[in-house]
Amino acid sequence: MDFHATDDAVTRRINFFTDRVMKLRENDLYFYNQPVEEIKGGARVIVNGREMGMYASYGYLGLLGHPRINAAAKAAIDKFGTGTNGVRTLAGSLTIHTELEETISAFKHTEAAITYTSGYSTNLSVISTLMGRGDYVISDKLNHASIVDGCLMSGAEFRRFKHNDMGELERRLQQLPGDVAKLVVADAVFSMDGDVLDLPKTVELCRKYGAWLMIDEAHSVGLLGKTGRGIEEHFGLDDVIDIKMGTLSKTIPSVGGYVAGKKELVEYLRHASRAYIFSAALPPAQTAAANAAFKVILDEPWRIEKVCDNGRHFIDGLKKAGFDTMLTTTAIVPVLCGTDERAFALTQACQHKDLFVLPVVSPAVPEGQSRLRATVTAAHEPAEIDYALGVIEKAGHDLGILQ
Ligand SMILES: *Cc1c(COP(=O)(O)O)cnc(C)c1O
Repeated sequence: MDFHATDDAVTRRINFFTDRVMKLRENDLYFYNQPVEEIKGGARVIVNGREMGMYASYGYLGLLGHPRINAAAKAAIDKFGTGTNGVRTLAGSLTIHTELEETISAFKHTEAAITYTSGYSTNLSVISTLMGRGDYVISDKLNHASIVDGCLMSGAEFRRFKHNDMGELERRLQQLPGDVAKLVVADAVFSMDGDVLDLPKTVELCRKYGAWLMIDEAHSVGLLGKTGRGIEEHFGLDDVIDIKMGTLSKTIPSVGGYVAGKKELVEYLRHASRAYIFSAALPPAQTAAANAAFKVILDEPWRIEKVCDNGRHFIDGLKKAGFDTMLTTTAIVPVLCGTDERAFALTQACQHKDLFVLPVVSPAVPEGQSRLRATVTAAHEPAEIDYALGVIEKAGHDLGILQ
């Protein structure tokens, strides 16, 4: 059978999508997967031969390329090589893996930590290991896709509550049988909206109804708390989260994911979570880079202050121009456009003026809430942010997003 000639359901599905991408490309409105030739610190990139201001980075503290982190990665290659012989359970755990896990647990004020090769596989594996059929997972409606996928994979009953709505979280908890396994899971800082979870109330409700609490700190480590330790420090709470999950690929300029918590929890995951047992360990260079990065965060606290100042400066400027930035209080700044077309047009205008910023459209965000998802980092200077604000404001008027 000639595959390309068939008109089956799978082919139609693929064609529907590739047609959409092709049309965007033809109209110079496709901005994803761009070729980045060089990363110049946290604030600038060279794309297609053009130097642009970087407003799409998750490296909030501007640590990518930090000399101390680069040196640690290079030394680890010299010592261990580029790979790990396979899975840690059988091929052996490198001393640098243990060192990183100790660094993470100290940073997060827990007894222990375990690492995985991505944040995505961490959520998938940890949720599906801890929860199963007959159990209940309660998830914020705006949680990251990897959380949703982990919940679905677990086979547990999956209940969602309206974003950051503590009344609805309580009603969901009230509806559950008393003696079942329950897990409440949420992002600490929401990746598309930039707002912060009401952690104190969430903790109170979990205790009241006997539920475990898992928080994804992908966007809160380095952004929240005076020393960048995350959402607990932000609210002045210490070790109130049962499962503290995070990624090593955003503020931490490496790759990987982790869970920090009680030593029994970590011991269980080390022997039961399939992404740990059946997948190769983090490479030495990435492990050492992550390990050094946590130390840099503690040694260079000015970075946290600067990213907070930059976030505030950017949000205030956009609001003053008349943009809707939703409820963000962090360096993740949604610039609401409405329709997909408007979000693409605003992106195009920004990119033509050398701002590397990307749109997020439905279905990644609800219909009618298409936006630029702009970020600032500790590497931006206020004058650069002012330039960006000028470009976005002018384009907003030209396109009728601003009145
Ligand atoms: C990016 C992200 C992840 C996935 O982390 P990776 O290390 O990139 O796989 C998980 N959760 C949230 C909230 C994220 O933003």
